[in-house]
Amino acid sequence: MSVVGLDIGLQNCVIAAAGRGGVDVILNGNSNRLNPAMVNFDDSRKMGEQVAGSTSISKFKTCIRNMKRLVGLAFDDPRAQKEMKRVPYECVPIPHASGGPPSVAVKVTNSEGEDTIIPIEQVLGMIVHHMGMIAAKKASEASGSNVTDVAALFPQDWVIAIPPYYTDAQRRAVLNGCKIVGIPGVQRLMHENTATALAYGIFKDIRKEFTKEKPTNVMFIDMGASAYTVTIAAFEPGKLTIKSCNSDDSVGGRDFDDVIGNWIAEKFVEKYGKKLSCAPQSKPKVMLKILAAAEKAKKTLSPQGVKEASINLECLMEDLDFNIMFKKTDYEEMSAPLLSKLEAPIKKTLEEAKLTTADLSSVEIVGGSTRIGFLKKKLQEILGIETLSTTMNADESVSRGAALQSA
Ligand code: ATP
Repeated sequence: MSVVGLDIGLQNCVIAAAGRGGVDVILNGNSNRLNPAMVNFDDSRKMGEQVAGSTSISKFKTCIRNMKRLVGLAFDDPRAQKEMKRVPYECVPIPHASGGPPSVAVKVTNSEGEDTIIPIEQVLGMIVHHMGMIAAKKASEASGSNVTDVAALFPQDWVIAIPPYYTDAQRRAVLNGCKIVGIPGVQRLMHENTATALAYGIFKDIRKEFTKEKPTNVMFIDMGASAYTVTIAAFEPGKLTIKSCNSDDSVGGRDFDDVIGNWIAEKFVEKYGKKLSCAPQSKPKVMLKILAAAEKAKKTLSPQGVKEASINLECLMEDLDFNIMFKKTDYEEMSAPLLSKLEAPIKKTLEEAKLTTADLSSVEIVGGSTRIGFLKKKLQEILGIETLSTTMNADESVSRGAALQSA
């Protein structure tokens, strides 16, 4: 197994391998398909699935996350500054290798009190390497070779998916991160939305479902943890054209978590008459606990028919427990400002493709956040359609498409 496709998400990474039998998502050591995009720089140096939920909270200073939204940006770039406000670890500027403005590095302290400065692209490279080791271990098991052969089975050809909104500097930083950690294979980059479109179309094309006379136009709507992307692709026999694409990186699953998190903080004040300090830099553990509870409640409320979720936070602040019921009607109402951001990219993408909804053969939704029930309803309203198509695996379409491109 030497050819792989990798989706590096803000929250989750997925690796798929293409072979003669098709494409398979590779399971990690915990038999999960999704791998947390985290590296823990405490003395254990654990990564991905080894950094379990509670570890990532207790080791907040050394557990590095959100690399995807920091890599390749200048330290002073407003996007980097905004992202750094969200993370509980320390970021510092470091001189850029090519002499440009300083870029972002993380500062971690070991148990001996020694500081290490690590460029953020190196952290990203480490996650890519970790994912490669997962693929190599799988290949080693499949071939019956012993563990020392794992290095030889390390993927030789990678396609790494990146967001369509990445700049050239961000693309170069991803490749540089792979180089720093010594990943041996060839690395090619591919846009996440193109990967999704390829995963959608390739087998339909083999089954001859497309015609030359009338291209099949499909809209893909992707919302993961940190961004929302709308793409229109046209399929003809043997040909895929991305006609238009627009992203909004100010709306994603984490923004829905924030909505619930802010509500929890308000209700805590009402109950205890004390302000709940949960700023990422001053009270990171409180913030991480609240966001974990918010994400759990969000997922509970996603399916149709569920009306409320219980939120239980033990020892949230000064040993105070906080237990409350959260209603979906309140959640939907509070999410209105986020839902209002969904329309503009859809309209713009249709306009740029010179198409209307009637010209689309289907609208496919992917990315973990498209499971939110009222978000789906809002998308249907905007598009004026009865159903959105969920034929693709919401978590795996990007890695599968990247693996197909690499095959
Ligand atoms: P990005 O695409 O921004 O890089 P990512 O690839 O890590 O992020 P995904 O793995 O596609 O993102 O999705 C993760 C997001 O989906 C998280 O915000 C998570 O809370 C959300 N999510 C997952 N399952 C559900 C669910 N059942 N209901 C609501 N949200 C969900």
